[in-house]
Amino acid sequence: MKRREWIGCMTALAFSGLSAYANKKEEFLPKELFQEEEKQTESWTQGSAKFFWIRDNAEEKRMPNQLFTGTDQKIINQLSPEGGALASISCFLVQINGKNILFDTGNGKADSRLLPNLASLQIKPEDIHYLFITHFHGDHIGGMLSGDKVVFSQAEVYVPQKEYDAWTQMPADKNGQVVKTMKAYEKKLHKFSEGDTLPEGIIAKNAYGHTPGHTIYQLNETLIVGDLLHGAQIQLPHPEICASFDMDKTLAIQCRKQYLQYVKDKHLMMAGMHLPAPGFMSWKKI
Ligand SMILES: [Zn+2]
Repeated sequence: MKRREWIGCMTALAFSGLSAYANKKEEFLPKELFQEEEKQTESWTQGSAKFFWIRDNAEEKRMPNQLFTGTDQKIINQLSPEGGALASISCFLVQINGKNILFDTGNGKADSRLLPNLASLQIKPEDIHYLFITHFHGDHIGGMLSGDKVVFSQAEVYVPQKEYDAWTQMPADKNGQVVKTMKAYEKKLHKFSEGDTLPEGIIAKNAYGHTPGHTIYQLNETLIVGDLLHGAQIQLPHPEICASFDMDKTLAIQCRKQYLQYVKDKHLMMAGMHLPAPGFMSWKKI
């Protein structure tokens, strides 16, 4: 079974509410599938849009089980027997109508893979026309600056108004990176709300909870879900489980349930910034 089929399989189980999943973890969590080839990018096409998953994390990324709360730790450990749920730091690129659209920028650390992986697709930072941000955590906006310099010099930058307002009102010890980054892109910054018309038919959807203005994006039959999930193997079967990063847990749970159901009902491709490689999964073939 190929990895993506496996993920779909796991997801189908999650959505059909089979608690047997936990008991069958050996069957559904074959370690070697997780550790298949170390792919850095992968793509899929819908209509005139080509989507790319772009891996940012250099090393294997796991979200430690202790980060997750909302149920008995035993259940979490059963779902994630390695001690940490396999994850990633991912960005997504969409090519449509001659435009390059980047969703989030990874953490921008010295070993960040976003730029080399874009280069492997023959894309330079200045080739990005639009940059869409799901929320303002450092592993999503960190790649926007290199030191004090703007990385995506030609990009029109789209950020959720609510996220912008919430972070700019936070104390200085919490929002230093946000303020510096948004200032650097000031002339190219577009603050939007749900329902606004966005370039290339992108639809923004409020997914508040993880952060005050956490926003996810739909284009064609793909939903880019930002940080709706931090540990897929834990939270797909148990969406009521939050990672400690979720700022408003009640709201985060509500959004996670709502949008997982939406993805399932509409047979969408789901792309997530912390889904395990290859960062996207589909129900279509099931
Ligand atoms: Zn994140």
